[in-house]
Amino acid sequence: MDKKQLLFDGNEKRVFATDDPDKVIIRYKDVTLAYNSIKRARFDGKGVLTNKISAILLGYLNENGIKTHFLETVGDREQLCRKIDIIPVEVIWRKRIAGSLAARLGVEDGFLPGNTMVDLRYNNDELEDPFINRHHAVALGLANYDELEKMITSARIAGTLLENLLHRAGIELVDMKLEFGRATDNGELIISDEISPDTCRMWDEETGERLDKDRFRLDLSDVVASYQTVLDRLENLNLK
Ligand code: UDP
Repeated sequence: MDKKQLLFDGNEKRVFATDDPDKVIIRYKDVTLAYNSIKRARFDGKGVLTNKISAILLGYLNENGIKTHFLETVGDREQLCRKIDIIPVEVIWRKRIAGSLAARLGVEDGFLPGNTMVDLRYNNDELEDPFINRHHAVALGLANYDELEKMITSARIAGTLLENLLHRAGIELVDMKLEFGRATDNGELIISDEISPDTCRMWDEETGERLDKDRFRLDLSDVVASYQTVLDRLENLNLK
């Protein structure tokens, strides 16, 4: 499918139209942002890795009954996806409490509670993505109760599926951010953003080493090498 005009030029991705009005090509850039875009850097080759990791994880969800926008990989850093209208709500699945939430709740980074959690954040840079509940999301007209229920259920199932898959690769899925959209062809609610070390916390099960964006956030170096480790281990599972 041919790439047509640029529809959206984001910080970390570009979205192009295709011959089909209901399909887009998403191009993953090498730029990385953190702390609400205050911290920014470029890592050569990062976009290739996040594209490939995302393709594996989104493809795995598709094959296991959780629909996503991903259709197929069309280049080293590009994938063909269903076009969607994005819902500006981040749905965060958490097995452990890490990062800013650990500080907010006064627990150690990586605290393991007895329950798995799902949080909602309003995807709004100006407001710094505040935590919201379902009532706030409905009040703001972001989604209806039924959609929010489906998003939360989907996040729970996706979390369990990917936690088990990554475990086979010796990686612990600590938390994960999902976004959802309504497909432009039939209105279906589907997962609509990448799933990669840029949007999840992934720890080496043996060493506890961080293999995700925290390497950049916390200036731990080896960002690209860590993402490469995640990809290599997933590819070694020979899923297809
Ligand atoms: N996350 C993300 N984009 C965001 C916010 C969070 O990809 O705008 C990811 C983040 O990388 C982590 C998970 O969601 O894997 C949970 O992040 P949290 O809400 O705890 O925020 P943080 O600790 O990054 O401030």
